[in-house]
Amino acid sequence: MERERFVHQWQASRVVFGAGSLDRLGDELKTLGLRRALLLSTPEQADLAARVAAALGECAVGVFSQAVMHVPIETARVARARALQTRADCAVAVGGGSTIGLGKAIARDSGLPVIAVPTTLAGSEMTPIYGITEAGLKKTGRDPSVLPRCVIYDPELLQTLPRAMMVSSGLNAIAHAAEGLYAHDGSPITDLMAEEGIRTTAHMLSTLRALPAEAAVPMDTLGQALHGAWLCGSVLGAVAMGLHHKICHALGGSFNLPHAQTHAVMLPHTLAYNAPAAPRAMARVARALGQVSGPAGVHALLHGWGVPVSLRELGLPESALGDVAEAAVRSPYANPRPLERTALLGMLQRAWAGLPPQS
Ligand code: NAD
Repeated sequence: MERERFVHQWQASRVVFGAGSLDRLGDELKTLGLRRALLLSTPEQADLAARVAAALGECAVGVFSQAVMHVPIETARVARARALQTRADCAVAVGGGSTIGLGKAIARDSGLPVIAVPTTLAGSEMTPIYGITEAGLKKTGRDPSVLPRCVIYDPELLQTLPRAMMVSSGLNAIAHAAEGLYAHDGSPITDLMAEEGIRTTAHMLSTLRALPAEAAVPMDTLGQALHGAWLCGSVLGAVAMGLHHKICHALGGSFNLPHAQTHAVMLPHTLAYNAPAAPRAMARVARALGQVSGPAGVHALLHGWGVPVSLRELGLPESALGDVAEAAVRSPYANPRPLERTALLGMLQRAWAGLPPQS
């Protein structure tokens, strides 16, 4: 028996999955009784948002293409004003975690429902977690009203995602599931989803690795990527995260390190830190990866792509490591192994230098 006591509560959201399912967006809005959609995207995905708006016709009342990482409050305010001005009755976020995060910021303030069309593997679409950055400080919280009402997973939208981002974003997804396996509030259902999410994502990355760099990624591999993201994102939405998410939060929020890449670099090390205190969870991570060790398996998954493998490559000065360790110790998340400053600093030093993880 893996978990002897648990409370399991699930959140209701509708998931529409499959290549070409973006075509169903208009029908999904109708089913929900929504008629005036404000499309959201980053500047880089403005063309995609404009195409989606054109396909929706009268149902689209505007496109706001200014989403950026970590949802600055100023951007959220302008987007909310735009929603008000266009009398939008919902926000349709087409993009990764940054765009979906902007939709959640609008929802939190105005109650407008969010429809998410994810184009990365970050998993925000399956969570009631929001984040807003004000005066350089990122605040996050949980609020059921920001959970997207409907999520459209269309693997065709991953065709433009650069391979490097597929790798980092895939490891970001695995991070949610791996921490879910030792979460104090997990259940046998979240454990099943976590293990399968890791297995699916790792399998997708192995398939990708075997493809020539210039080859188009087959649709079923892109489908596997979103399938894994859905499972891992669902775990993130359902249970508490630990040390790994705390450290990445500090690195992203205070040092503006890129989200997916930071998760990818840190994951082998945070898992190694927790391994002695979470042997059953770590055995499941290893089993899902088809490896002997979870931390070493994740480390192997990250290497050999030409993506950053160290905090140094991500631009973090070595002098910042003490502050990151301090931030984790000062306001820790629930974690299987106590957060101890000296041990954390050692872990961060290895991650900074790109060394293999060490338990
Ligand atoms: P992102 O949304 O910032 O996207 C990164 C870049 O990739 C952007 O320029 C985007 O336009 C581009 N992009 C996205 N999909 C693309 C595609 N298919 N083709 C080409 N370009 C594409 O990256 P992310 O990692 O998805 O999200 C990071 C943000 O999401 C962070 O702020 C993080 O805190 C947040 N997040 C929140 C949750 C949550 O539950 N609240 C979960 C995960 C991440």
